[in-house]
Amino acid sequence: MQQKQSFAIVGGQVLRGNGFNRADVLVENGLIKGIGNYRSTQNKIDAASCFVLPGFINTHAHLGETIFRDAVKFSNLNDYIEKTEKINALLSGKSKLLREISGSNTMLEFIHSGITTICAGRCAQECESAGLRSFSGYMLMQSKKLQKYFTNFESEFKNFITEINNTLLSKPFLFLHSLTYSTSGMINLARRLIQERGIPLMVHVAETLEEETRVKEETGVSSVKFLENNGLITNSTLLVHCCNISDKDMGIIKRRGATIVLCPTSNVRLNNQIPPFDKMLKQGINLCIATDGLATALSKNILCECLFLKKEFKRVESFNWMNLITTNPARSLGIRSGSMYEGSSADIVIFGPDKAANAKKIKRDDIIDFVSMLEVRDVICAGKEVMRNGEVTTIDEKKIHASFNALNRSIKDLETQA
Ligand SMILES: [Zn+2]
Repeated sequence: MQQKQSFAIVGGQVLRGNGFNRADVLVENGLIKGIGNYRSTQNKIDAASCFVLPGFINTHAHLGETIFRDAVKFSNLNDYIEKTEKINALLSGKSKLLREISGSNTMLEFIHSGITTICAGRCAQECESAGLRSFSGYMLMQSKKLQKYFTNFESEFKNFITEINNTLLSKPFLFLHSLTYSTSGMINLARRLIQERGIPLMVHVAETLEEETRVKEETGVSSVKFLENNGLITNSTLLVHCCNISDKDMGIIKRRGATIVLCPTSNVRLNNQIPPFDKMLKQGINLCIATDGLATALSKNILCECLFLKKEFKRVESFNWMNLITTNPARSLGIRSGSMYEGSSADIVIFGPDKAANAKKIKRDDIIDFVSMLEVRDVICAGKEVMRNGEVTTIDEKKIHASFNALNRSIKDLETQA
């Protein structure tokens, strides 16, 4: 029924702005056609005692990393990158398979947590198969595995764009890994690409204190200032982490209308500082929360990332934490998703049921706590069903789990031998 062009989600509590209200949602041709009374619509999804929210937007993930979860021991970021690169090299004959299994398992976990849009390096195919919306990143990074995307740029980029054009729900972005893993050639190429193509840019910035200190020693300015000087901070730039930036850097980010993407539990796991969220918020910067790669995150769930930060910053008063994974990322990516209004994409997640909840009493600060206590029941992306009654309908959960577990075990063995 849900695959029909037109249907209504009826009887649920719909999140709009800072609160829930009882309403029906009419979906037509992939868009929300109306919010009101649509009980008499022929095709219905019953959402009585359920909570209907915009699908969550995960602005930063690494699909190929999930396979390393609990298999690789690491003490910090460099250690983690070195070890996983070594395993990737050992498994180089199987790299496509590794990527596929890791990617599809990540899709399952994201769908189960209510995510309908993903930004990650080269994720168009995985997201398309899973029925999710995506921003697929062209990688620029000084690493053995990824060097070809720079040295064979013309042909690789052409293939990349063709791949995205063959999907329904993917768009391109440029993923300049970080200043640590960039050459001046990559930085110049990045500037040219965002100017010519107008595509969003993502960069890991000031994730570790050592990284920020080194950039300052080498360039004489902070990472943020260096990126600004090179024309790389615009209102389509997403700066990931920013754990070690100054008030002045925040001023630049605010002035340029750029976005900061926070991945707090990954910062903790890699023994980095927690970003100065309260200061960023005070400066009025557009802020998002994301999972990062699932091998470095402490939680599997984007709502847990928000709850973690909420606990760390208790002094932040009266704030709709849900905005960090809905409206704010939609703004930075320029998509009509992340909120429920007539004309927006029908990217919808249904939580519940919870008969005991009195939606009227849920304050905007507590929406995130409340929702995280419920289960995701249904996920709809671009008006199409992705999960129904807790079961993913687009990809084969059992098969993916089995191959993921087997490969994850063999990586554990490799790591023990090494
Ligand atoms: Zn990352």
